[in-house]
Amino acid sequence: MANPPALLGIPYDAGSSYMRGPSLAPPAIRRALASGASNTWSEGERDIASLDDAGDILLPDIGNPRAAIEEAARAVFESGRRPLSLGGDHSITYPLVRAAHERHAQLTIVHIDAHADLYDEFAGDRYSHACPFARIMEESLAVRLVQVGIRTLNGHQRGQVERFGVEVIDMRAFSRGERPVVSGDVYLSVDLDALDPSHAPGVSHWEPGGLTTRELITVVQTLGGRLVAADLVEYNPERDPSGFTAIVAAKIVKEIADRMLEDQ
Ligand code: MN
Ligand code: MN
Repeated sequence: MANPPALLGIPYDAGSSYMRGPSLAPPAIRRALASGASNTWSEGERDIASLDDAGDILLPDIGNPRAAIEEAARAVFESGRRPLSLGGDHSITYPLVRAAHERHAQLTIVHIDAHADLYDEFAGDRYSHACPFARIMEESLAVRLVQVGIRTLNGHQRGQVERFGVEVIDMRAFSRGERPVVSGDVYLSVDLDALDPSHAPGVSHWEPGGLTTRELITVVQTLGGRLVAADLVEYNPERDPSGFTAIVAAKIVKEIADRMLEDQ
């Protein structure tokens, strides 16, 4: 199979502004993927059990974690596969998109999240999980950034939306029926807190009024373009004592993998 997707775990949460925990997510999501509570097939009837797995990356105690994340994604591309990265907090998307952009110069990013993550800096950190899409747009790593599920814009981030020409389908617009329309090379970044906290409580930032699991799955299944890479971030096992949200995360991973396999 040409350019199959491959899981890549990024156990990194030092970009989190409020609560740590997402660094524990990759093994928890893999366990949920293998859980006997369900089977390993996607709704599109592809067996995800045979998905390639590039493992979890080892992050250096010192030095630049972003360089290590970018290098790990680059290695997956160089092996002829497409990274399906498991966060980690959302700060990892900036180095992941840098690696994707090396291969695909005309990237459209579809970013599904409660938050726009467009802060110029947050609490003094330009690489916070509140900032990755500001860094991405400053470096012109995407020709389009389409955001879905947003429901926390403030004055500063509205200014950033205008500055970078971001296309925002906020929850009000989504409820009116707006959906992302994209083509060409697509990078999909899914922050699990895009879901309503009643559907996925195991995240650091509870923001009511979000997507249902079904709505998110349908957006993934109907997304246009060719998925060249994807990530699922911000699952926080520390907030998931029952393991329920791990199952939701695994379900979303299966549907993203299915959508990537469809592009073969
Ligand atoms: Mn986010
Ligand atoms: Mn978020």
